Amino acid sequence: MSRLEDLSMKNEPTIKESEAIDNRLICVVITANATYSLSPDMHNRAYEAIGIADQFTYKPLSVTEEELERTIEGFRNDEKFRGISVGVPHKQAVMPLLDHIDPAAIKIGAVNTIVIDRENGNTVLTGYNTDWIGIREPLLKRIELKGKRVAIVGAGGAARAATYAVLQEGATVKIYNRTLDKAKALAQDFNCEAGSLDDLTEIQEADIIIHATNQGMKPGDPMLIPEDFIQPHHVFFDVVYHRDVPETNLYKAARRKGATVIGGREMLLWQGVEQFRLFTGRDAPVEVMEKAII
Ligand code: NAP
Repeated sequence: MSRLEDLSMKNEPTIKESEAIDNRLICVVITANATYSLSPDMHNRAYEAIGIADQFTYKPLSVTEEELERTIEGFRNDEKFRGISVGVPHKQAVMPLLDHIDPAAIKIGAVNTIVIDRENGNTVLTGYNTDWIGIREPLLKRIELKGKRVAIVGAGGAARAATYAVLQEGATVKIYNRTLDKAKALAQDFNCEAGSLDDLTEIQEADIIIHATNQGMKPGDPMLIPEDFIQPHHVFFDVVYHRDVPETNLYKAARRKGATVIGGREMLLWQGVEQFRLFTGRDAPVEVMEKAII
């Protein structure tokens, strides 16, 4: 049995239910360690809530870098598969394996969502990025972005999505990163400023701080932004999330300092809301999805 056949059998219910299950479309999250993903809880609860759990199911699949190409071809060739959520470390590597890529995903340089359309014997895989929506929506619920100064710490995929999101809304951006050359490259792509992680003094003047490195996923990880630099006037967004760490140390520090705080699960929620719409063509039951993960 192949790994994909194995996947479509996982959590197989009783024989009585199996006839309906056989016809369900499968959406799947692929990442290095899918055991930690909260996406299956979020999407499956949403399918149940709007009465489409007999049409869709959502499953986790751990995929290594070596397995990526074969896995995507497997999804392409199996008509049960409808949608793919793409996690670390595959968001860039998956791009050459697709037929079309949405302009926002091209600009950001990463795909976190793949929709598989099948019509008249043709199969088309289209890549999207919904991470930037996961950053924009929680911010807009708290603050207007036009004219605001945004400090982004990190220069990887999440930072690129954050930069795209806030620039779209008319904010200005400065990127700070451990590897300064990477910050400069990002800044050049998006026509904004870059600075070193070694001197964060001026982030005190920003309106919004977005932490987008991968430090904070483990309880003992260091805080890259000194607590003293976080002020009550800040909107502070820590995009980091981990199944076992509901709140990072940085998030807790920002709350202690009186900042308006946003956590990584809220980003997960809103990128998932858009994914749900792309996979199912239906509006997502946001409150149900929120309850499943927050
Ligand atoms: P990535 O592309 O690998 O980028 C990692 C970033 O972290 C780089 O800027 C890197 O700096 C920095 N970094 C790593 N270790 C560091 C250290 N010890 N000290 C200082 N900087 C360090 O990763 P990504 O895809 O952007 O993901 C970043 C975070 O976003 C992850 O924690 C992930 O959980 C989170 N995320 C959350 C969601 C959500 O839905 N909430 C979605 C996507 C991502 P260098 O360039 O110097 O290496």
